[in-house]
Amino acid sequence: MRGKERIAVVGAGLGGAAAAALLQRAGFTVDVFEQAPEFSRLGAGIHLGPNVMKVFRRIGIEDQLNAMSSHPDFWLSRDGETGEYLSRIPLGGFALREYGASYVTIHRGDMHQVQMTTLAPGSVHFGKYLTDVEEGGDDVLLTFGDGTTARADIVIGADGINSRIREKLLGPEDPHYSGWVAHRAVLTGDQLAKYGHDFEDCVKWWTDDRHMMAYFTTGKRDEYYYVTGVPHPAWEFKEAFVDSNRDEMFEAFQGYHPTVQALIESTGEVTKWPLRNRNPLPVWSQGRLVLLGDACHPMKPHMAQGAGMAIEDAAMLTRCLQETGLGDYPLAFDLYEANRKERASRVQAVSNANTFLRTQEDPAWVYGYDVYAHPLKSAAAA
Ligand code: FAD
Repeated sequence: MRGKERIAVVGAGLGGAAAAALLQRAGFTVDVFEQAPEFSRLGAGIHLGPNVMKVFRRIGIEDQLNAMSSHPDFWLSRDGETGEYLSRIPLGGFALREYGASYVTIHRGDMHQVQMTTLAPGSVHFGKYLTDVEEGGDDVLLTFGDGTTARADIVIGADGINSRIREKLLGPEDPHYSGWVAHRAVLTGDQLAKYGHDFEDCVKWWTDDRHMMAYFTTGKRDEYYYVTGVPHPAWEFKEAFVDSNRDEMFEAFQGYHPTVQALIESTGEVTKWPLRNRNPLPVWSQGRLVLLGDACHPMKPHMAQGAGMAIEDAAMLTRCLQETGLGDYPLAFDLYEANRKERASRVQAVSNANTFLRTQEDPAWVYGYDVYAHPLKSAAAA
């Protein structure tokens, strides 16, 4: 005899945690399988646009995130060398009024920790590296690296850019290396205090082929973060990321504005990450398996919307499953793809091109979007 219908989410990252929280709130029984033995406060910042905060409102953590994070009044783009302002995109009160929620910047570890508190007790299983999924007639068998197994009616692959579930659907294929790396460093307010510079709340310094984005990650403004995009012909390392250093940073940003030089001078630890990518996938689901987030549409991070798209996916997939019930998951998966693919692919293309907000433009198509606002497009209409 079969037990209760269950959904398995593989990966408790930013998208998987959102999907599990939303599905549990919608009344589904959800188990989350995460390969990491535990999560720590990984050193990086993240932007959350109003489009994402509207989903966090549904999960019940919007106020908490608002209280913890920095609220920039503008996204500023500046010429890396002269410091001239190329764009001033209004956020702050404008975003609240025009887009319906705040635009915030935060430490991703802090945000993820809040997300994890929203999951039903006992529903997250750590140390579960998915090695295989096998669809039977009635359900799916998941096998993990520790030799254990689990069964579920459907499986959501929220397992990031190297997704095993994507591999099951489309075969093995490494993501492409984009030819760019990102340096990431977190600085304390104390490290910056000695400079007479105005370290702006949210600023992207650009020259032709590279940039540095910098912003606060706390409401107290005691932590400042920068992330770069710098061309680098090949990723010659086996590791997911490697240490960089101040000398390499000074070389990469030679000729940049004194404020950028001050950031580099204050840098303690700085790491270097390959920016990887995939072309849009031909299918997002097959049988009882469905993908979301970086498993489905990874992108270069230059629009600061990768997690945003994963979280919007989570919200739309939940909507579609609520609409059809778990019994009609094939229709739910078709509806999900019909209602997500165009937007996620557009954001993926613009983010990869690294043009967003370099000059004065209207970002309403990104930030004004509300995943709950429109009736679902039928699967056939897509
Ligand atoms: P992930 O967050 O990668 O989560 C995947 C999870 O699956 C992980 O916990 C992993 O351990 C687990 N997992 C993997 N394989 C298995 C397995 N086989 N079995 C079990 N578990 C598994 N996005 C923004 O919205 N704003 C930003 O400002 C921003 N800045 C960025 C800066 C940089 C430099 C980079 C590289 C990315 C940035 N992003 C940003 C993008 C964002 O980090 C990703 O798009 C987002 O994390 C994707 O979420 P996800 O849940 O799909 O995948």
